[in-house]
Amino acid sequence: MRIAIIGGGLSGLTLAYYLQQRGVAYDLFEAGARPGGNLLSPLTPEGYQLEAGPNSLLLSAELLELITELGLEDAIQDAAPVSQQRFVLRGGQFRALPGSPPALLASGFFSLRTKLRLLSELARRPAEPVPGETVAAFFGRHFGPEVVEYAVRPFVAGIYAGDPSELLLSLTFPRLAELEREYGSLLRGLARGPKAVRRRTITLRGGVQTLTDALSARLRNLHLGRTVKAIRAVAGGYELDIADLEGAAQSTRQLSDGPAEAYPIFHDGPAEASPAYSTVALAMPTYVAAELLRPLTLPGALAAADALAAVRYPPLTLVYSAYDRAQVAHPLAGFGALHPPAEGTYAAGAIWTSSIFPDRVPAGQVLLTSFVGGAQFAEAAGQPAEQQLAAVHTELTRLYGISGAPRWQGRYHWARSIPQFDQHLAAARAAVAPLAAHGLVAAANWQAGVSVPDCVKYAKGLAERLATGQGVG
Ligand SMILES: Cc1cc2nc3c(=O)[nH]c(=O)nc-3n(C[C@H](O)[C@H](O)[C@H](O)COP(=O)(O)OP(=O)(O)OC[C@H]3O[C@@H](n4cnc5c(N)ncnc54)[C@H](O)[C@@H]3O)c2cc1C
Repeated sequence: MRIAIIGGGLSGLTLAYYLQQRGVAYDLFEAGARPGGNLLSPLTPEGYQLEAGPNSLLLSAELLELITELGLEDAIQDAAPVSQQRFVLRGGQFRALPGSPPALLASGFFSLRTKLRLLSELARRPAEPVPGETVAAFFGRHFGPEVVEYAVRPFVAGIYAGDPSELLLSLTFPRLAELEREYGSLLRGLARGPKAVRRRTITLRGGVQTLTDALSARLRNLHLGRTVKAIRAVAGGYELDIADLEGAAQSTRQLSDGPAEAYPIFHDGPAEASPAYSTVALAMPTYVAAELLRPLTLPGALAAADALAAVRYPPLTLVYSAYDRAQVAHPLAGFGALHPPAEGTYAAGAIWTSSIFPDRVPAGQVLLTSFVGGAQFAEAAGQPAEQQLAAVHTELTRLYGISGAPRWQGRYHWARSIPQFDQHLAAARAAVAPLAAHGLVAAANWQAGVSVPDCVKYAKGLAERLATGQGVG
């Protein structure tokens, strides 16, 4: 048995790591010269330690285990305590988001009408989830429109770059569907059900990419700068057509408009002369998987390709703005602020990066990371860089009481950011599942769940299943 893993993001790297631990032969092919996919942590010459992908991680048991095995415990950096406070823009003012249902009832965040609605929700009887219900419909049914507009919409934009009117509850928040089935009332379920343990919010010194760099350094069969162009069915398995990246050795850890930073190739060298693989793990985005599956003559491959091609990844730009502390009137005492679309802002919100991890910027400065785009703010995501930087600075000036020009600004643009867990994704998962019987298995975030802990957990479980011959044909 030899397994091909296509895609060296967090999912593919973690899968390879656990397969290697179990003595399973594999080859991991990554198109880029840099491993890590969405985990990208550029350090600018001015001294700003940025994140282009995940800004912080919720520490799960599996993630801590992986970090520990990789010898990175000392690199763990907890978020500053002040960052437990989160804000939502309402009527042009930042309002602290109450942290619990009782705090919510006591605060003035929601109207009396909505608070009464929250109380009446306690009387709901257990019910089967509504098939195909969206996140917005579910919360609207339980708590009314104000909660959807001022809590759910900004939250879903902030975490998934998504639109709750499109995302499916069953895929996005499966636990809430279970609570409805068992308790009827979400509030009662949350109070009585198994307590969700408050997880540590962390990063790693050098940025989250430290994790994927450390994983890569452990792998014996990682092939960087190798784009898989085709999967061919042969007797006993699959062969791959692979193209080398031109100039891979010069390629970089790079901010899209910024300077390139030379990045080492860890394990350069040709893969074995196209061995036959018993299993192929699809650890790349759906739109790439679609094109690799399309030409295969296997039953179901074409339907899976069509379904995968329909999955949506909204564009998203991260705009970084640094100021001298003295330029900013707002105390920035929190994690950041989300902007409900009803507020009519340019950006979907901003993370107060230097409040969460103060050592990310030179002393005496603050750094705000604004999110432009996503499904609910799509129009602004495609605008030219100068326009985005200027619009963000203008908005930050108004919202935070900023005087003068930024000390520094930069941006990172994702033409396709995060897969949307909507009806298209549900159809894609269903269409891909039967291909496992033919040795083609899904391994990326669109199967695992979006968050870093979800990707780690899924990849570890998949490695176990592949090593023991379960879950594949
Ligand atoms: C802007 C942004 C912010 C985020 N914020 C957070 C956060 O705060 N917390 C959190 O937990 N998660 C966050 N996430 C989600 C998380 O980062 C991702 O879900 C996760 O990193 C996905 O990893 P992956 O390996 O599944 O996919 P990817 O990272 O997309 O990796 C896929 C890899 O496949 C490679 N590839 C593509 N085609 C080919 C080919 N033909 N041949 C070979 N290789 C190929 C690509 O180059 C890429 O490296 C964020 C994501 C984004 C984009």
